[in-house]
Amino acid sequence: MKFSRRKFLKTGTLATTAGVVACQTDPKSGKSNPHSTAGTPLVISTWKQPKANAAAVAVVERRGRALDAVEAGVRVPEADPNDTSVGYGGRPDRDGHVTLDACIMDENGNAGSVTFMEGIMHAVSVARLVMEKTPHVMLSGDGATQFARQNGFKKENLLTDDSKKAWEKWLETADYKPVANIERHDTIGMLAIDAAGNISGACTTSGMAYKLHGRVGDSPIIGAGMYVDNEIGGACATGLGELVLRTLSSFLAVELMRQGSTPQQAAEEAVKRIARKLKPTDDSQVGILTVNKKGEHGAYSLQKGFNYTISQNGTTHILDAPAERQ
Ligand code: ASP
Repeated sequence: MKFSRRKFLKTGTLATTAGVVACQTDPKSGKSNPHSTAGTPLVISTWKQPKANAAAVAVVERRGRALDAVEAGVRVPEADPNDTSVGYGGRPDRDGHVTLDACIMDENGNAGSVTFMEGIMHAVSVARLVMEKTPHVMLSGDGATQFARQNGFKKENLLTDDSKKAWEKWLETADYKPVANIERHDTIGMLAIDAAGNISGACTTSGMAYKLHGRVGDSPIIGAGMYVDNEIGGACATGLGELVLRTLSSFLAVELMRQGSTPQQAAEEAVKRIARKLKPTDDSQVGILTVNKKGEHGAYSLQKGFNYTISQNGTTHILDAPAERQ
């Protein structure tokens, strides 16, 4: 039986036994972290991702590595056909190809990524293999698919019937231009801190719906879609990748924390930098999440509507991020 994402969220939010609580961030104080206990594992991800967080929490709770946690976590939406911005079921590019971007980074500064990869559901696991089995950081396109196949990944058709229908409908009226998903991006960026206090991160997406064939966004670019420095903290981003790429938002946020900013200040400045320098259109969205070594977090977005999922101390909260534009 299919378990709809919407239904799950509803159930999870209402059922206290599920440990999912919906609450708000205070935009003024930026004190959005109701559970910043240092030294306890933490998982934070972009958008409403309680199932992904649960998979990651299961790893850190049994004293597993943050790296294993973020991989396990983001694999959940990668396999979910109802998540239309990640992996299987992701919306295709304008030519009907589902092309995936993903990256992963561990506590030792090792990083792996795949871009513009087709036919392999778990892009994050291929990125991890690039990190662990090759002297490289990034593989792209057919080379990434070939590498995955050589390492035992199954080649699959990732275009679901629903995605195909949506694309065909889009073709009827489209001006044949890529369309940014303005209201909702399901790209998952996830950061985790394990019981040893180590931080890792991952990010995975099918990118902008109906993008130009070959387009790569911020998500697989280390420092743009995600960045971790285990001495300082981590950051990840979602939204219009072209804006994030031009300011390397995740790297910027981590460097701001290195210079003394709180996670909230760092997330805000990274978004404000985009607002100030790139002058994005009113319908552009970018959301940034940050964590530091103390287990404090920050979240900020260009527009209202960006939410995120944080798990710590046995509970999962879905929080609304404060925004630059109300
Ligand atoms: N950042 C992703 C991209 O530009 C899209 C998203 O977050 O939904 O590819």
